Amino acid sequence: MAGPYIVESRTMRGAGGKPIQLRTYFHRQIADLAPSYLDSVKGYIELYESWIGAYPFTEFSVVSSPTPTGFGMPTLTYLGIEVLRLPFIRATSLGHEVLHNWWGNGVYPDYAHGNWSEGLTTFMADYTYKERESLEAAREMRLGWLRDFAALAPGQDAPLTTFTSRTHGATQIVGYNKAAMVFLMLRDLLGRDTFDRALHTFWQDQRFRIASWADLERAFGSASGRDLHAFFDQWLSRAGAPALMLAEAKHAKSGSGNVITVVLEQGTPEYRLRVPIAIHTEHGEELRTLDLGSARQAFTLETHDKPLEVVLDPDLRLFRRLKPEEAPPILRQVMVDRTTVTVLLPESGEVRDAAGSLATKLQNREPKVVSPDHLAAVPSVVIGLQEQVDAWLERHKLPQRPEAVRGKGTAQAWTVRRPDGVTLAVVSAQDGAALAALTRPLPHYGRQSYVVFDGTKATSRGAWPARPQAIKLD
Ligand SMILES: [Zn+2]
Repeated sequence: MAGPYIVESRTMRGAGGKPIQLRTYFHRQIADLAPSYLDSVKGYIELYESWIGAYPFTEFSVVSSPTPTGFGMPTLTYLGIEVLRLPFIRATSLGHEVLHNWWGNGVYPDYAHGNWSEGLTTFMADYTYKERESLEAAREMRLGWLRDFAALAPGQDAPLTTFTSRTHGATQIVGYNKAAMVFLMLRDLLGRDTFDRALHTFWQDQRFRIASWADLERAFGSASGRDLHAFFDQWLSRAGAPALMLAEAKHAKSGSGNVITVVLEQGTPEYRLRVPIAIHTEHGEELRTLDLGSARQAFTLETHDKPLEVVLDPDLRLFRRLKPEEAPPILRQVMVDRTTVTVLLPESGEVRDAAGSLATKLQNREPKVVSPDHLAAVPSVVIGLQEQVDAWLERHKLPQRPEAVRGKGTAQAWTVRRPDGVTLAVVSAQDGAALAALTRPLPHYGRQSYVVFDGTKATSRGAWPARPQAIKLD
């Protein structure tokens, strides 16, 4: 790390009045950001001291880097100048890095048995900030996690006990997101007070030691007085996620009330799950939790008001493999699948070269190019100029350019799920320059179902709407 730096410093009082030195080492061009960064660091230290326990060091510094780095170590985070300029970094990544002084650099993960620190940090930082923003924002984050997981091809994920650090997209989806959701399910199971008490004890007992998932299990087990072995075991030692299905729901009158029979099914191996169910009635919504422990199980529920519809896990609080209609296709799905093939519609010249490099960039490997004459039975990326794309879609009787992108920008990308379940990513540009302009930005939009570009700038994007599993009642 090398400057020239302008150093700003401030002393805050931590737990018990202990002085903590906060510093920014910023390049001149962002020196004006120092006060707001120092304020934010102070806020995060206060938040986590009251939540977990005293900050274990005597200083914390934010250091700027001329290259786009993002990197943390005890008492310090090293972030690119351009990164530090992004307005949301102070509200997200900075807090995550500060929290690593407790989880990761205060208690060290036992890497040989799985790194829990990224999941716990994601849960207590990134996810917590969403919860503070709104219920909707937190749900949106869970949906994003589950959609990313659903977009992994079979065999791309691994048990949490094998996660060490982020090396590619799939490891982030498991090591960070799945693990964060395990902590969310644990808090839903134990209640917030017990959950926080366990974290507190875990911190007291394990400070500056190496701790494993088994130590976490012990801390949560003793705080709650419950045997949590089955819970930890199913979420840590298995790859994948349960595939839940709302198989049946029937309604019958019973005296002055109503009885609903709900049948839930899941794949193998079977998980023990507390499944949230919403019952929509004439007068509102009632929430119930069903304890599912086998492959197929029937439950009887009673309501006073006439029930209209039953919805499975409407708030997406369970880590599970979403069904196709719950997880509409996103671009990443096609990008990460090792079986994906590529259709290049431009026949030759610079435009074909641009299409080829884009395909390589999107899949992070040499594309497997196939003929445009047939529809492949595997996920496909189709790249071409506007009229070529329209003609190709027409020829293969696929849905035309969707409303969300039609007539907009200089280039567009969107996903299509064919009736046979195969997903396509279609990329269409008005000319060669517009196509070449996508090479850098498009790979960053894997979480979207569609994106519109004006040159290199994304002007509009989104995911196709998700439909929860629901059954209407008579
Ligand atoms: Zn981290």
